[in-house]
Amino acid sequence: KEELNIIQGALELRTKTVEDVLTPLTDCFMLASDEVLDFNTMSDIMQSGYTRIPVYENERSNIVDILFVKDLAFVDPDDCTPLKTITQFYRHPLHCVFNDTKLDAMLEEFKKGKSHLAIVQRVNNEGEGDPFYEVLGIITLEDVIEEIIKSE
Ligand code: ATP
Ligand code: ATP
Repeated sequence: KEELNIIQGALELRTKTVEDVLTPLTDCFMLASDEVLDFNTMSDIMQSGYTRIPVYENERSNIVDILFVKDLAFVDPDDCTPLKTITQFYRHPLHCVFNDTKLDAMLEEFKKGKSHLAIVQRVNNEGEGDPFYEVLGIITLEDVIEEIIKSE
């Protein structure tokens, strides 16, 4: 029964965490902060189909900005605008959450409406050295909704 699945899915929001449903960093479509918005980069962005694109500096685990596709409305590929020019103009806030955040809490945060994408990090204290924050991936409102309406 579809109704039962939805109720089941909603109840599971209290036990499942963002780590269970995130999109892993390796699967994220991202841009390096030193890229130039030429024709090739802009077509890659359009072809990816995503509306929010994390921007990293030096390594993919170091996300420093989010580019929204709508930020490109006034960008002419012939100008070869540096990506930095655009991200520094809009400065969309980065929203980070911990891997053990429950999905019901995540849904509440998304409903508050700051942003519908968050970067998921965890505290890595496995090695010898000091613990550090490790980025695991991204989660969007869609990932939480999917968890509610998925049919088994
Ligand atoms: P929207 O539907 O609001 O236009 P979208 O299609 O870009 O946005 P979502 O609908 O929020 O993205 O998410 C759909 C799926 O894609 C989710 O699983 C999400 O984690 C994933 N996702 C979102 N952005 C990216 C990205 N830049 N790279 C890889 N996966 C992404
Ligand atoms: P996104 O958040 O993915 O960038 P968006 O902000 O354009 O997209 P949604 O998040 O899909 O739009 O919708 C937010 C609210 O704005 C919804 O209530 C939707 O019905 C409303 N809305 C979206 N587009 C329009 C529009 N052109 N005119 C009036 N209301 C709109």
